[in-house]
Amino acid sequence: MADQNSVVLRGGTVLTLDAQHTVLPGADVLVTGDRIAAVGPDLEVPEGTREIDARDGIVMPGMIDTHRHMWQTAMRGYGADWTLTQYFVWYYLESGKHFRPQDVRAGNLLAAAEAIDAGVTTCVDWSHGLQTVGHAEAAVDALRSLPGRYVLAYGNIQQGPWEWSTSADFQAFARRMLDDERLGFQMAFDVTGDPTFPEKAAYEVARELGVPVTTHAGVWGATNDDGVRLAHEAGFINESHIFVHAASLSADSYHRIAASGASVSVSTESEQSAGQGYPPTWALRAHNIPVSLSMDTSVWWSGDLFSAMRTTLGADRSREHFEAHQKGETITHCSLRAEHVVDWATRGGAEALGRSADLGSLEPGKKADVVLIKNEASPVSFPLLNPYGHVAFQAQRGDVHTVLVDGRVVKEDHKLVGVDLGAIRREVEATVEYLRGTLGEEDWLKGMNPDVPATKVLDNPYTYTDYASGATHGG
Ligand SMILES: [Zn+2]
Repeated sequence: MADQNSVVLRGGTVLTLDAQHTVLPGADVLVTGDRIAAVGPDLEVPEGTREIDARDGIVMPGMIDTHRHMWQTAMRGYGADWTLTQYFVWYYLESGKHFRPQDVRAGNLLAAAEAIDAGVTTCVDWSHGLQTVGHAEAAVDALRSLPGRYVLAYGNIQQGPWEWSTSADFQAFARRMLDDERLGFQMAFDVTGDPTFPEKAAYEVARELGVPVTTHAGVWGATNDDGVRLAHEAGFINESHIFVHAASLSADSYHRIAASGASVSVSTESEQSAGQGYPPTWALRAHNIPVSLSMDTSVWWSGDLFSAMRTTLGADRSREHFEAHQKGETITHCSLRAEHVVDWATRGGAEALGRSADLGSLEPGKKADVVLIKNEASPVSFPLLNPYGHVAFQAQRGDVHTVLVDGRVVKEDHKLVGVDLGAIRREVEATVEYLRGTLGEEDWLKGMNPDVPATKVLDNPYTYTDYASGATHGG
């Protein structure tokens, strides 16, 4: 009985994110089965349709994160004060190898719950901790056990991509994954710029399997223009390729990315703290390169795209003002708008994943991945004057009232539905206990608390005054 699966969200401000970015105040969204059946005011609905009151709220498409290392979520917040160097040392060189399959599973479970809770209905699991196919099975097992759409981007930082990708067990696993309709599949590896281009073997495997590739590109001190050039010259870059960060690159790389139709996943919070390079939306706009958003890893930041949208607007505008000031000029009109980042968090992600036919907007016939932002208890919920601005600068994860994935209500009245958070907590606690025990207390604390560099406080010339700031700093 299809009618029993009908849900209508009544009377919200609907951001359809269709091609014209149509906004419908006081409109309904009718979901039948796994699809959006209709969008508009005062919809007639089948008998028995479940009604959700969306008045005073914003209804928008489910958000899409195109780069998240879900396995790292079991270490939530541990690396808050890291740089990229400290991240590399901890995960790539020293501690990442200790993660067992069950630790990857624990991180993925928590990350999946975190994503749905924040209205992120599709998430690329950039899973580069897959030391064995057993780890990959554990990652997939977690993704299958929670609602939400996921793309497993298979990677392994403990080996060269030419090693793991050519192994028989990886290839057998990959072929099994290609038969799975619910879980997408990509290959995730980085291209160092070594002129012998050893990563070519991994690209060839991806081409043979017919799966997209995603790489961290333009990462200061790690991957540069040579990696983009080598892959482009060898003909491996196409519109399915997602470059992550693409922050410290020359115009030549941006031209190559633009010409091949590939997209860039911008992780602004990551780029700002870790140091891959300045968040590149200013350059991507200039080169007309498609953008999606991501938050990278909960070892530093939380897994919601509200922060990604907000910080991306801030970084882009900050740079625009700063560059103008260097030239003695003034920016009077911002180039990047709230509407753009909401588009990147929804449509942009769907396009990057090649899923724009069925994800990324609220239009009849598309998959019913829907988010209702509404919080009657919050003084930040009204007045609702500028809906894109409200999503990008006012709303946050606690305001996510209802989430549907594939037509199923997976969060309702601010609470996850059918997710046993207590069970996930126990798995995460077991992983933390194991890692802490394996590393030992000294290394555990040292990893979390990197040294603070010595700061030379400049001599203050204003020591002749009694004024408080002079007295404080000049002494
Ligand atoms: Zn990353």
